[in-house]
Amino acid sequence: MRWNNLSDDDRNAAPGLFGTDVVTRTVDTPEFRGITFHEVRARSLVNRVPGASRMPFEWTVNPYRGCSHACVYCFARRTHAYLDLDTGTGFDSQIVVKVNAPELLRKELATGRWHGQHIAMGTNVDCYQRAEGRYRLMPGIIDALTEHGNPFSILTKGTLVLRDAEAIARAAHAGDVGVSVSLGFVDERLWRTVEPGTPSPMRRLDVVRTLTGMGVPVGVLMAPVVPFLGDAPDQLRETVRAIAAAGAVSVTPLALHLRPGAREWFLQWLDDHHPELLPSYHGLYGDGAYAPRWYQRRVTGQVHELAAEYGIGPLPRPGAHRSRRFRGSRETPDRSAGQAAGQNGPTAIQLTLL
Ligand code: SF4
Repeated sequence: MRWNNLSDDDRNAAPGLFGTDVVTRTVDTPEFRGITFHEVRARSLVNRVPGASRMPFEWTVNPYRGCSHACVYCFARRTHAYLDLDTGTGFDSQIVVKVNAPELLRKELATGRWHGQHIAMGTNVDCYQRAEGRYRLMPGIIDALTEHGNPFSILTKGTLVLRDAEAIARAAHAGDVGVSVSLGFVDERLWRTVEPGTPSPMRRLDVVRTLTGMGVPVGVLMAPVVPFLGDAPDQLRETVRAIAAAGAVSVTPLALHLRPGAREWFLQWLDDHHPELLPSYHGLYGDGAYAPRWYQRRVTGQVHELAAEYGIGPLPRPGAHRSRRFRGSRETPDRSAGQAAGQNGPTAIQLTLL
């Protein structure tokens, strides 16, 4: 589940294909059958979130556009329309790659105008999607942030994040670094159809387990909770129990959103796979993007009760200490807000989505 505000470079891009970025080449490769990579040299990388006063972070970095994880409900889909690309299969298969992301980030972090604010990654599309296996942009990005002592957070469904686990652990032990894994359910049948390009829920739980074992606090964004398909009490219980067993420091539930771009695609999927549920969805969502408040409160309450029952809470962070720069960051997660929500140690991203 992505950040639900079209707030970064995708909306700021100039009209037309890829805005002001320079397209260097387009690549189809047998290794990634069905996926086309559009390699661009981006003009800027660190992006300000418009209207960030309501959010716990103000700056994002997104090295990719489009996402081969292909979640049917993904509300970043509509950002592909800004690139003159299709928001359905085009979003899943036409991936824009900012090949100069690490060098550009180093340059931007080094300017006098940058003051070390928190940078959130994975807020638009997944920075550990399959393309990252080919382009390896994240190691350079993490190194640049670590060298500058810049706090950051990563939200992902990708197990590829484990490739960079050592670097993330080093950064987390030195300062404010958060990782959140997105996992809305553990039902394998639902996963296969609604998140067809993602690693399985069990493999994502392995990410939580492995990073936690390395002293990196990992929260789980339990999103989306899918009405009528993933929200039964026993399903919520099974999911929260698995998240707790993996060692997550927090769990933050979020009911399915059906914003324009994702809504049409999701309802088409529903019609194909569960047509009997269409009236129920129309009853719950009407013409809107959000489930009603009573529904959201019910899901949140159930998950928080289960989290308390299974003892989800903070783990010690071996070797953790905060640099002066990190202490000064106003994007540092607000623990009291998390505790008020019945959680402990939420990341900036999770607080945002509460
Ligand atoms: S993993 Fe990719 S497709 Fe799935 S919700 Fe996140 S950005 Fe969208």
